[in-house]
Amino acid sequence: MAAFGTVFMPEMAISWFDGNSWSAAEVVSSDSLQLHPGAHVLHYSSTCFEGLKAFRHQDGSINIFRMDRNLERFSQSSQLLALPEIDKAATGQMIIDIVSRFKDEVPEPPGSMYIRPTHFGTEPAIGKAATPSVTSCQYILLSPVGDYFAGGDTTLRLLLEENGARCAAHMGMIKSGGNYASALRPIMKAKQELNADQVLFCPGGDVQETGAANFLLIDGNQVITKALDESFLHGVTRDSILTIARDLGMDVQERQLTIDELLERAAKPGCEAALSGTAAVLTPVGTLIHKGKEYPVGNGGIGATTLKLRQALNNIQWGLAEDTHGWLTRI
Ligand SMILES: *Cc1c(COP(=O)(O)O)cnc(C)c1O
Repeated sequence: MAAFGTVFMPEMAISWFDGNSWSAAEVVSSDSLQLHPGAHVLHYSSTCFEGLKAFRHQDGSINIFRMDRNLERFSQSSQLLALPEIDKAATGQMIIDIVSRFKDEVPEPPGSMYIRPTHFGTEPAIGKAATPSVTSCQYILLSPVGDYFAGGDTTLRLLLEENGARCAAHMGMIKSGGNYASALRPIMKAKQELNADQVLFCPGGDVQETGAANFLLIDGNQVITKALDESFLHGVTRDSILTIARDLGMDVQERQLTIDELLERAAKPGCEAALSGTAAVLTPVGTLIHKGKEYPVGNGGIGATTLKLRQALNNIQWGLAEDTHGWLTRI
């Protein structure tokens, strides 16, 4: 099966901001894009993106999960990067229209259509290192994806990194390209030297998130995760899982979690940890690596509560459980 995110629908929706207004959305070929080599984004990383999914239900309908949340975050990322403001309603309509155009291509669960809105500064002005781009472009790219867990469920190995940071502290809540480039070297090093799957960034001992997913500790009836602040990405999956956990009567604690508390709790039998994100939903973490030592989380295997929470979320996405929070946009 093709790697996640390497297959694209042949067309995408696109709109350009000329300094005054957004052009009417167009559907264009998705295999190329023409930009001036001096475009602001290529030099000064004025770019942000989103990731959300559309799901096929048994009645044949196509349903987009929590589009309002992703539009809100897309708008916020654009603002914090001093990009032109997006019109959330117009971008939402672009998403609905392009997904509708390719509705026959939306895979059956556990597959889905991954939706990638992208916004970047296009102004050809390499003197604008300290000035925003006046013009920009946004497009909605579609990528059908299969079962993320097709290879069987395994648990992840995470390196706890307390010296480095994923990105600059004030950039954490922006879903912006430069942040991922910033985290690459520490992640590559952890993979090569420790056979780790991901780095869990814990600046100064404060457990934050990995390169592209949020971290949750599940200890009995408690779910513990860092409280929202501007240092990390506010995942829609994180919010959804916490909401479902509260619905199930669990004790959800959004607060600071230190490496010391994490390692102490992880040693208890029955403790679980997981990463949350749109692509992988909720992925079990089996091992934490810290200062050259390895610590299994609970028994190191796949946690039952992790699987239960993931299934509860999937059931809503797939139309197998009632959408009590109004998370789906049916098209
Ligand atoms: C996208 C992302 C997440 C997860 O967000 P979701 O909305 O759940 O997909 C978490 N951390 C980072 C750094 C991300 O880029």
